[in-house]
Amino acid sequence: EFDTLPLEKQTDSTGATIILSVDLAGEPLYFRILKINVGRIPLYLLDADIPENSPKMRSVTSRLYGGDNEMRIRQEILLGVGGSRALNALGIDPSVFHLNEGHAAFTLLERVRYFVEEKHLSFDEASFMVKSQSILTVHTPVPAGNDVFDTALMEKYFRREVERIGGRFHKFLELGRRRPDDATEGFWMPVLGLRLSSRANGVSRLHGRVARDMWSLVWPHLDRLDVPIGYVTNGVHIPSYVSRDLLKIYDRYLGPGWTEDPDNEKVWQRALTIPDTELWRTRERCRTRLVYFARRRLIKQLKGRNASAHEIDSAENVLNPEALTICFARRFATYKRATLLFRDPDRLAAILTKTGRPVQLIFAGKAHPADDAGKQLIRTIIQMIKEEPFRGRIVFIEDYDINIARYMVQGADVWLNNPRRPLEACGTSGMKAAANGALSLSILDGWWDEGYLGDNGWAIGSGEEYDNPEYQDQIESRDLYDLLEQSVAPLFYERGIDDIPRDWISMMKRSITSICPEFNSHRMVSDYIEGSYVPCATNSEVLRKNDFGLLKEMVAWKKQIARDWPNLKILDVTVDDRTHAIKGRQLDVSVTIDTAGHNPDELKVEIFHGPINTYEEFKVRNVTVLENFKRAQTNGSFVFSGKIPLMYSGLYGYTVRITPYMPYLPVSESYELILRG
Ligand SMILES: *Cc1c(COP(=O)(O)O)cnc(C)c1O
Repeated sequence: EFDTLPLEKQTDSTGATIILSVDLAGEPLYFRILKINVGRIPLYLLDADIPENSPKMRSVTSRLYGGDNEMRIRQEILLGVGGSRALNALGIDPSVFHLNEGHAAFTLLERVRYFVEEKHLSFDEASFMVKSQSILTVHTPVPAGNDVFDTALMEKYFRREVERIGGRFHKFLELGRRRPDDATEGFWMPVLGLRLSSRANGVSRLHGRVARDMWSLVWPHLDRLDVPIGYVTNGVHIPSYVSRDLLKIYDRYLGPGWTEDPDNEKVWQRALTIPDTELWRTRERCRTRLVYFARRRLIKQLKGRNASAHEIDSAENVLNPEALTICFARRFATYKRATLLFRDPDRLAAILTKTGRPVQLIFAGKAHPADDAGKQLIRTIIQMIKEEPFRGRIVFIEDYDINIARYMVQGADVWLNNPRRPLEACGTSGMKAAANGALSLSILDGWWDEGYLGDNGWAIGSGEEYDNPEYQDQIESRDLYDLLEQSVAPLFYERGIDDIPRDWISMMKRSITSICPEFNSHRMVSDYIEGSYVPCATNSEVLRKNDFGLLKEMVAWKKQIARDWPNLKILDVTVDDRTHAIKGRQLDVSVTIDTAGHNPDELKVEIFHGPINTYEEFKVRNVTVLENFKRAQTNGSFVFSGKIPLMYSGLYGYTVRITPYMPYLPVSESYELILRG
């Protein structure tokens, strides 16, 4: 119902609606552009539901997930190719393209086409340019969650277009394969994204590691540690999720400017000055509000189902506004294990009904329409909570959305998250809850793997990964019950004469002061700006200058050094006293290299070093760049030298790695050539 939303149709200078098109295997798909302002940020939406299109084409933007892979490729062509054209038509010339997951990676192909056709660059120059100004954030740690298109589909939609702009189709297919020469592989959208961007990141520290493992095939000649995928941990916009009551307290005790400076630890340290009574009163008010909200929603759910008057009446009394309230709300993907807590119903019952220490649970969440296993989890929970003693102590709120999420993160005492590590890329609801003073009780997965400090919430397990999911569920559910029984509930109900749980409150404060300054959107955006946007924008600006002068030079240089690379040789490596390293000393290292006619400053010479085990593998690996060089006695060769600091005693090992170097070289290009010694 676009007419009821604050959407603006985008028009040209004459006031006519801008209608653009993309080619879908010979048939045009027309679309218009709608703009919505999200705060200060314009968001452009592409809409194919317009009379210019046939009914088949109009359906391309009718639903997000649904339809087959062919529908999916059409949607992604519209998103990527159409999205890039939309920006062009609106006169927006971005200096950096940031792709959220592989879905949008066709953007990069359209950008290559743009530089070839409209800026008259060669295919290689255009690709280099696109890499320089693009970054990719990967999300899904599950291979099946990534888009892969088979070769026939790619052929149908791309062959003509690729050949038209001077690319070779079989070369083009290699851009989407993890192993370029494996013709049986399909076309992976994230791989296209990785190959045509200069930086990539996962969305938490742990997920960065998972993503490096997952995509290591794309860089077969690199150690996994060196796969150029970093991480930027997600963060939440705190003022959007904190209750009105707590916002007022933050204004008073953190100072009125705190929302402008949310990544400042000192600002959050002031939360320690909030009087316990005041913080606790707010906590109780928010919990009560959540309980009343849950009752209203249950009544609505029951009425919608024509439940009996008796059932509706009893919904008025579910939950206890004073009981320890644990919330679990998220998508019902199976890896999130929504039913883990129900594994031993007797133990759960004992925890919930313990005299003097009542515990209650609120669940909310939706399954993906095609995820039958996820739907089954919801059914299981609904079934279990109909019976005593769960009835009235556990509720399930349907139709999870951001409104429900707000009530829950604001009202929860404990935020529960028990995914199967390491499948939760980041998770953000726990951050929203923490900003409201809830304590996290979670598997060390996603953000909690770096957020948990030992005293600011609870960790289920200690970061183990298992091969046997059944066994894992058994161990981790036991740990969860133990924590609830022995730590969480006792701490919550340990009250002084004023009925205030002082130790619980001090843990709340510890959670707020340690989590809020780190896991907020301000810090996240700063990380992207400093680590990616500014370097990419600078590179692309420099490369564009003088009619792409430096770009053309760099591409020519890259080709030359690739031709010369087989002639590059490591002639000698000298390290003083390798085996009996003494901690604290420095070792002099020099490497003599025949540079195959290249200047030494065109090479980056690195020493990987560190203590090794008996298999000569690094136990800890350090990297030192050899910055100094001078001409060697042998003609055409150079001695690179430097010092490596010894940080450990014992058996020490080292290896040499040489890669081509130029300023403005995208990371993905610099690892195409490597010489080791
Ligand atoms: C925050 C939020 C999510 C994401 O929660 P995760 O912890 O990342 O699973 C999902 N849905 C809604 C409505 C949210 O507010």
